[in-house]
Amino acid sequence: MREKYAVPAFNVYNIETINAVTQAAEELESPLILALSPATVRHIGMRLIATLVRDISWRSTVPVALHLDHGHDPEFIRQCIQAGFDSVMIDESTEDIATNIRNTREIVNQARGRGNVAVEAELGCVGGFNVATNTLISDDWLTDPDAVAGFVSKTGIDCLAVAIGTQHGPYRTTPKLDIERLRKIRQQVRIPLVLHGASGLLDRQIKEVIEAGISKINIATELKIAFTDAVRKYLMVHTSESDMRWYLQAGQKAVNEVAKQKIKLFGSAGKSRSV
Ligand SMILES: [Zn+2]
Repeated sequence: MREKYAVPAFNVYNIETINAVTQAAEELESPLILALSPATVRHIGMRLIATLVRDISWRSTVPVALHLDHGHDPEFIRQCIQAGFDSVMIDESTEDIATNIRNTREIVNQARGRGNVAVEAELGCVGGFNVATNTLISDDWLTDPDAVAGFVSKTGIDCLAVAIGTQHGPYRTTPKLDIERLRKIRQQVRIPLVLHGASGLLDRQIKEVIEAGISKINIATELKIAFTDAVRKYLMVHTSESDMRWYLQAGQKAVNEVAKQKIKLFGSAGKSRSV
């Protein structure tokens, strides 16, 4: 927050994407957040991912945190906290604010019981669409700056995801971001603000949101596309290839490149030295 850069939270799906973003962070000396949705945690296995990332963070030359992205089921989030996640998101963005506060507060209490586990919550609803519940919000879904201070103090959260015009998944046209709203939110609270739905924004927009107070940026879609495009291309050229290490390696390399571009853009390169 003080140095006006954003820590990258890269969504990872398998060992290749984990290695790709970890190597990118190490090459550029950036702190790193490995983010997994509940579906991906189930895909890999909760204990396995917690053990794997603990081992990576011990060996790594940069700080690596394990984060649950868009948690919704309180029992599942509790299990992640118990399993050793460094950070969890509780996404109650489709609920009314009183319910959001109550449910988020409960997770914060559990996280405090485990020491240093951080909690991220969302006020407003990114894109008007709740990823955790697959629900569309029809009314005004942007974060209300006047509600932010109360929400943060009543819940006790560590990071706040804001809705300022981004949405999850690929964009058809470049979205217009409400930077004025972001500035107002920034003035209300002292905790880091998080941007979801950052894949596909212009570099200029990323710089603008960081300057206006975003300290963590989530990237998922761009990594998925880079990985899959590279694997597809490799297999179209090497039509008889059957060793999965080779074509997955092509995906890993592509994700590594995108991750390095983002780290440079977010201004987090070199920042692991001062952590
Ligand atoms: Zn998100």
